[in-house]
Amino acid sequence: MPPIGAKGIGAKRVGVIGAGMVGVCAASWLQRDGHSVFLIEKDEPGRGASFGNAGCFNGSSVTPVAMPGVVWNVPGWLFDPLAPLALRWSYLPALAPWLLRFIRAGTPEKARAAARALRPLVGPTLEALQPLISAAGADDLVHRLGHLYVYRSAESLAKDRFSWDLRRENGVEIDEFDADELRQLEPALSRDYVRGVLVRENGHTSNPLALVERLVEYFVRSGGELVRARARGFRLEGGRLAAIETDTGDLAADAAIVCAGAYSKPLAAALGDKAPLETERGYHLMIRDPETMPRIPTADADGKFVATPMDTGLRFAGTVELAGLAAPPDWRRAHILLEQGRKMLPGLAASHPQERISVWMGHRPSLPDSLPVLGPSGATPDVIYAFGHGHVGMTSAPMTGKIVADLVAGRSPSIDIKPFSAGRFR
Ligand SMILES: Cc1cc2nc3c(=O)[nH]c(=O)nc-3n(C[C@H](O)[C@H](O)[C@H](O)COP(=O)(O)OP(=O)(O)OC[C@H]3O[C@@H](n4cnc5c(N)ncnc54)[C@H](O)[C@@H]3O)c2cc1C
Repeated sequence: MPPIGAKGIGAKRVGVIGAGMVGVCAASWLQRDGHSVFLIEKDEPGRGASFGNAGCFNGSSVTPVAMPGVVWNVPGWLFDPLAPLALRWSYLPALAPWLLRFIRAGTPEKARAAARALRPLVGPTLEALQPLISAAGADDLVHRLGHLYVYRSAESLAKDRFSWDLRRENGVEIDEFDADELRQLEPALSRDYVRGVLVRENGHTSNPLALVERLVEYFVRSGGELVRARARGFRLEGGRLAAIETDTGDLAADAAIVCAGAYSKPLAAALGDKAPLETERGYHLMIRDPETMPRIPTADADGKFVATPMDTGLRFAGTVELAGLAAPPDWRRAHILLEQGRKMLPGLAASHPQERISVWMGHRPSLPDSLPVLGPSGATPDVIYAFGHGHVGMTSAPMTGKIVADLVAGRSPSIDIKPFSAGRFR
């Protein structure tokens, strides 16, 4: 096949399913290769998980959710619906197969392997994002101020030692701060925090929705097509893709990329691939015109939430709820973030008028080993999966897009994608 690079030479018609951060990054990198690309979105671009996240581009986020000893925590998750990680009893039967795999993933060896696999995907996040935001005129939405983790005791930092070792083993550089240094770095923080760890390589967006929208706008301005439809499956002819089937008819395509986030499972199943995709639901609560904000996105390591300074206010985001795609949100979980946030930032008012508060729940697309499914489908090399990025989908989207473009062009990806194969669950 002739090399791809200039429009027309080896160019394909590529359909990208899902206009979240992963889909738009894939579409953008494919477009840069000269393909004719269309993005299929059932709703509005950027309104899925990519809407309400903490906005962090954390190249240091290599630790899987299933860490060693995770099995002992499961009973606690079942009995406290408001804990940072909670599991709904009613959803337990449906969740059981995922949960078993998740528990089995929680060994030191598997956590080390996951971290090694993830680092090349998340580490170069800002580098891989830069060309896309420069072209789209979105530089103002991305900031390189690092990410701060704060602890209420030396003991609680010590409990996270394995996570920090994993990051360090994978080349993440950190700076540790004591209580005084922390106060100088982030004066808005409560004095209850006595230890801080700063990862300088990390960055964040101050508006995840605007970022996706600007990338989509630029994609369309550059000749890309945004198709409002729900993808349902694929029409193959002789093992090659002929069309993407949607609720508004078939769309002819030479290649398709599945970036439908938490909704990708039926699309993979349509090709015979059984990905154990679940959703780790997360919440955010925002305060418009807050009295104070941290300068750097700051994670309360015990509370498992992040406070991110956004253009539209202060966002507290995080927590995990295993309750599936259909259950209604439990807004108490969002309001707990406000209680915890007020403790983190004592300069916030003790109460806020309702019109300054907004809440959100979203669906992280999660595989039990915290690695995405990224690579060709079992049925045809023309359909490529790029879903299941869990807690790090914003961060891993730019590199995922590059890898997808490599695969469509027939180039070897620059990183090892074997750990992300759909076949690992067979
Ligand atoms: C509270 C919270 C905080 C988070 N914080 C961070 C963070 O700080 N940093 C980070 O890296 N990650 C973070 N994440 C994770 C991150 O938000 C997700 O991993 C990421 O947004 C997933 O992107 P996506 O494009 O795969 O999915 P989505 O953004 O959900 O996009 C999928 C799109 O596909 C569309 N779609 C679905 N099915 C179909 C279909 N059949 N046909 C057509 N369209 C379809 C949907 O409408 C949607 O627009 C956080 C998540 C949560 C919940």
